[in-house]
Amino acid sequence: MKRRAGQDRGQTASWKPATRAVRGGTARSEFGETSEAIFLTSGFSYDNAGQAAARFRGDEKGMTYSRLQNPTVEMLEERLCLLEGAEAARVSASGMAAMSATLLSTLSAGDHLVAGRALFGSCRVLVDTILPRFGIQTTVVDGRDPEAFRRAMRPNTRAVFLETPANPTLDIVDVKAVSDIAHDAGALVIVDNAFASPVVQRPLELGADIVAYSATKLMDGQGRVLAGAVLGPAEWMEKTYMAFARHTGPVLSAFNAWVILKSLETLEMRVTRACENALAVARFLEGRVPGLLYPGLESHPQHRLAMAQMSAGGTIIAIHLPGRAEAHGLLDALQLIDISNNVGDSRTLMTHPASTTHYSVPENVRAEMGIGEGMLRLSVGLEDKDDLIGDLDQALRAIGL
Ligand SMILES: *Cc1c(COP(=O)(O)O)cnc(C)c1O
Repeated sequence: MKRRAGQDRGQTASWKPATRAVRGGTARSEFGETSEAIFLTSGFSYDNAGQAAARFRGDEKGMTYSRLQNPTVEMLEERLCLLEGAEAARVSASGMAAMSATLLSTLSAGDHLVAGRALFGSCRVLVDTILPRFGIQTTVVDGRDPEAFRRAMRPNTRAVFLETPANPTLDIVDVKAVSDIAHDAGALVIVDNAFASPVVQRPLELGADIVAYSATKLMDGQGRVLAGAVLGPAEWMEKTYMAFARHTGPVLSAFNAWVILKSLETLEMRVTRACENALAVARFLEGRVPGLLYPGLESHPQHRLAMAQMSAGGTIIAIHLPGRAEAHGLLDALQLIDISNNVGDSRTLMTHPASTTHYSVPENVRAEMGIGEGMLRLSVGLEDKDDLIGDLDQALRAIGL
């Protein structure tokens, strides 16, 4: 492997974001390929026994085994660091692998975690059910109120975990205020930034310590592979995250890393366009449906905070209809938009969280999170906005709205 422009952090630091997204992390092989190579190899060989020993001792840089390092995976990790402004990144097989490895590597039995209550369904199960099985205490709070985090802090609170905008309620958490409160108490701040992407929001700049992603969403953005990513300080990544992940193996395959690596080249263009489409669709729906939340509209109760920490309103809209019959009726009347529980795809997708993504969350917890029976989540993609508005218009008419 030749170290090429893009691998050296010192040089890339002066590049503008678009250049980093296309060139960052590139490491070319002896063939000089323009598009990054896919290294589908589990292992690596050594010139001699001494070199193998030096690699394992850590005296010589280089690859030993793809659970620990892989050239394609490292290109993706370096590119992600450049986009996020983070010291270190590690990618994983899915967003949930990233979330669970982050929390399990940070917390031990007897520690306490405070989390925002509106979380991705599986994140909520992790907080409510899985972590407590290992003796980790957890408290969930209304993430919209920073003081709720302060009140929940205990002497053994080691971390705060939040999502903003939150899935699927679109609650906004004030990352700076919560980070200040958590840091006063000596707790680490972990932000699930999947709904925003580094194009729209950079939590590290707002004071968070760790950013975690489902790269399945906007980063792939074309509905092909599952992937996750964790970014943060180099020391935490090595001493905390890798001390766990090295031996538990939540790694991303080189092929899936390559898919995400290529997608990052167009991330900024895709996310910017999808946000523009979402704003147009939200403006059309506002007033036409009984309730709607979109952070980019002034009607969102936390619009000012959202616009202070995000560069656009994002790609997700929450629609509130009277009940499940109307919500399922609208889904069944769609002709262009797909019924799908994914988000962040180039295709516009709609789902009914209460019966799909948050089905495994108990009904009382769903109600407390603000997920009603009539709620729909719309993930706006890259089709022409007029076609999207046309489809929603006919589907709303079909259910008498
Ligand atoms: C999808 C998602 C996850 C989980 O990611 P997977 O890649 O599906 O494992 C976690 N958090 C948020 C906010 C998500 O949207």
